[in-house]
Amino acid sequence: MRDDNCIFCKIAAGEIPSKTVYEDETFRVIMDLGAASEGHALILPKDHYANVLELDEAIAAKVLPLAGKIARAMKKGLKCDGLNLVQNNGETAGQTVMHFHLHMIPRYKGGCEVIEWKPGSPTPEELEAAAEKIKAEL
Ligand code: 5GP
Ligand code: ZN
Repeated sequence: MRDDNCIFCKIAAGEIPSKTVYEDETFRVIMDLGAASEGHALILPKDHYANVLELDEAIAAKVLPLAGKIARAMKKGLKCDGLNLVQNNGETAGQTVMHFHLHMIPRYKGGCEVIEWKPGSPTPEELEAAAEKIKAEL
């Protein structure tokens, strides 16, 4: 499954060069060209899925084990202090390349900011209403 207009399909297939740190039959892990920090990498499935809503469940089940493997290598190799996993879905959420990818962003004390949000203060009723809207669709 691929989308001929998708740059990450081409990168995942090796048709466009990338700095690859890991590859298997399902995934390619590349260095992000716009790295937020030293070692910022992207996990790309080789098949095209626009986002997590479309991602095949069997592939989804392999994403976090791979992220753990890469994270352990980042911790040892880069000596990072922590890391963020970031995964954007939809333009409103900041997704710019519409091929599922998981950002792995090493964090260093005093280094870049990644995602910061101001905690809100929903009422118990608002939490309940939002939960019910989700539960109704499960
Ligand atoms: P998004 O905003 O969709 O979650 O993230 C897309 C990411 O892909 C960005 O961090 C951007 O720097 C990276 N990116 C976009 N085009 C390329 C490319 O051609 N090669 C690589 N290695 N990274 C890319
Ligand atoms: Zn694609």
